[in-house]
Amino acid sequence: MALKRVLIVNKTYPEAGIKLLKTKLEPVIIPHLDHESESILEIKKEIATGFDALIWNTKHRLTGEILDLAGPRLKAVSTMASGIDHIDVNEIVKRNLTLGNTLNVLDDAVADITVGLLIGAARRFKEGIRELESGEWKFGVQWSLGQDIARSTVGIVGLGGIGQAIVRRLKGFDVAKFIYSGRTDKPEAKALGAERVSLEQLLKESDFVILCCPLSKDTKHLINSETLKIMKTTAVLVNIGRGGLIDQKALYDALKDGQIFSAGLDVTSPEPLPKDDPLISLPNCFIIPHLGSATVETRNAMACIAANNILLALDGKPMLYPVF
Ligand code: NAP
Repeated sequence: MALKRVLIVNKTYPEAGIKLLKTKLEPVIIPHLDHESESILEIKKEIATGFDALIWNTKHRLTGEILDLAGPRLKAVSTMASGIDHIDVNEIVKRNLTLGNTLNVLDDAVADITVGLLIGAARRFKEGIRELESGEWKFGVQWSLGQDIARSTVGIVGLGGIGQAIVRRLKGFDVAKFIYSGRTDKPEAKALGAERVSLEQLLKESDFVILCCPLSKDTKHLINSETLKIMKTTAVLVNIGRGGLIDQKALYDALKDGQIFSAGLDVTSPEPLPKDDPLISLPNCFIIPHLGSATVETRNAMACIAANNILLALDGKPMLYPVF
């Protein structure tokens, strides 16, 4: 009997996942698409019917049009990400497909990056590196003074897998108080010593505000000109969730006018952020190019979870990390 076929849209998909898929399925990778060369038009050109499953390891939006191109045999889709804001979920439901993601396995890598960003933004890495590289380094100048993590209040917007891993790490920094906001009480919060508060209270009280919730219609531009006004002038804002959580024009104004102290961003809108984006020009906006889950081990583990999601779904079993 012919093996069931799974299409992988981006060739950067790690070999570890391919090996696993090959135990029972026939994986097919679009051979020339990587994160630089791919465009949604290219993907559309390459999508073909005759596949039972799809690994959507790209940032592009998975729409009903693409699902139609993939044809009626399609049964299961897995992302290679924890966020699903790039998936048209209604179209998946309409076609009765199973959808999975790669939750949990990237918590540690993303939490590490968050701590790096937080320190970088609080302790003025960007200004310092600029001075050093331009040969302007002067010792002991006042601009270099940053913000302490010890004795601070840290506010986590979205105490999910990543948010909890961030709290576990920051406990070693002698933070005075952890607070979080979200739609529900998290049972894990008690052991972490984190208290649930409203978003408004979190923004008002926090020395560090960390965004690690999904992007949705409720969270789009959660940080905007109004909410930025609530924050402390000494506050550091860190975003590892999605660029769309922040109104970037409002953030630019707030950083330029000293309404908040600094920002550390792993995610922006759009991505890649154009070289002439005003945020890049700001000395107090420390930006890195979506490096959250980018470690060899984590990417391999994500590929294996995506592969297992598909193997299980095509075997009629629940995925490892089912979205529904
Ligand atoms: P998760 O375990 O599902 O946690 C998400 C948390 O956000 C949940 O605790 C949820 O709690 C909370 N949440 C949902 N809506 C909220 C709202 N309106 N306000 C505040 N909190 C809200 O997901 P995760 O793995 O931690 O990932 C979180 C997000 O990080 C992903 O959706 C993705 O966008 C982003 N991410 C980024 C990277 C990167 O490389 N930078 C990597 C992975 C993930 P309630 O439902 O109770 O509100």
